[in-house]
Amino acid sequence: MSKKVAIIGGGVSGITSALILGKLGLDVTLFERKKTLISGPPFCHLHAGGNLYREISDEQCITLLEQSIDFAKLYPQSIDKRPTVIALPSDDPQEPQMLFRRLELLRAMYKEMVRKQPDCAILGESDNYFELFSKEQIIELSKEPEARHPKNNREWLIPFAKNVDIKSIKFPVIVVQEYGINLFSVGASAGLALESMPNVRVYREYEVTNVQRDKNSFTLEASSYRGEFDYLINSCGFQTGVIDDMLGVKEKRMVEFKAAFTSLWSQRSPYWPEIIFHGERGTPRGMGQFTPYCGGFVQLHAMTQDITLCKECLVKTTQQSSYPKLGTHLLKTIESG
Ligand SMILES: Cc1cc2nc3c(=O)[nH]c(=O)nc-3n(C[C@H](O)[C@H](O)[C@H](O)COP(=O)(O)OP(=O)(O)OC[C@H]3O[C@@H](n4cnc5c(N)ncnc54)[C@H](O)[C@@H]3O)c2cc1C
Repeated sequence: MSKKVAIIGGGVSGITSALILGKLGLDVTLFERKKTLISGPPFCHLHAGGNLYREISDEQCITLLEQSIDFAKLYPQSIDKRPTVIALPSDDPQEPQMLFRRLELLRAMYKEMVRKQPDCAILGESDNYFELFSKEQIIELSKEPEARHPKNNREWLIPFAKNVDIKSIKFPVIVVQEYGINLFSVGASAGLALESMPNVRVYREYEVTNVQRDKNSFTLEASSYRGEFDYLINSCGFQTGVIDDMLGVKEKRMVEFKAAFTSLWSQRSPYWPEIIFHGERGTPRGMGQFTPYCGGFVQLHAMTQDITLCKECLVKTTQQSSYPKLGTHLLKTIESG
């Protein structure tokens, strides 16, 4: 008889686990407490190299590159092919050159991945993984007309060059092939694929409120549902620790609140790259991320206080609990915006 797997959480990790295990023929049941699958920010950044984070290790960057390529291979229809621009604020204590060594390492890793498995060439030619633009080039580009359908980094950079305050950033500006992810599309396509699998059941609006572990199985309760499973996958995002606490699993983790503001910029040209103002994290001039949506909408998201508008956004586990607890006001914001 096929093994029974329960997945708690219908975010991107839960539905991807359900898809993969469902394809392998396992008996899968997914529980999501909300009405819809994937309820996070609809347009996201594919961290193909993790260049967003200057403080993470080379190994973590390589893992992000590999995982992003795996993700893009699974959901090719949901990848928004547009590059990411990285600009350091002019008052940053560091220089853009500090990123070059890592970018070169990632380019070499990507080249090697493509050599071994040609279907990994999701991010275009490996030689073009990143490109540098000087101040003079950006000034030149600011005078050019915007391309209707940008075909190269230069054309993608034109709207940025026309709008950026040249005095507020350092040069060179880096353009890297970290694309976007359309999570509306991931949620919709994965939802349809899961519905078509007879061995997979998806329970929406079922919050798991109790889990117990016996010798060889897990007993799980969600609303009126009660069932036994051979395996349990805990995919509850920042609330993973709630289930860990029910099972007595001790984990150390941190949770950081990130805020996003979406706005209509009707004058905006239709094709913008993603833009990262790559400030030092944890400082008031920390990282700010500008993500283009379709239809003229844009999203500004970040963890710096000027964007989150709150203190104590970073919380840790304690000896008693594997669930780092954000303040009640932040939990309310996450629930109701
Ligand atoms: C503003 C913002 C911008 C972001 N931008 C990016 C980006 O550009 N690129 C990127 O890669 N990442 C980005 N992220 C992070 C990304 O959204 C998360 O890493 C991702 O959503 C994690 O997926 P997950 O499936 O692990 O968890 P989640 O997406 O949090 O999903 C967990 C699910 O579990 C459900 N759940 C919780 N408890 C229970 C329970 N007891 N019973 C049933 N269901 C339960 C929740 O309702 C939720 O649907 C951003 C996050 C934020 C907040």
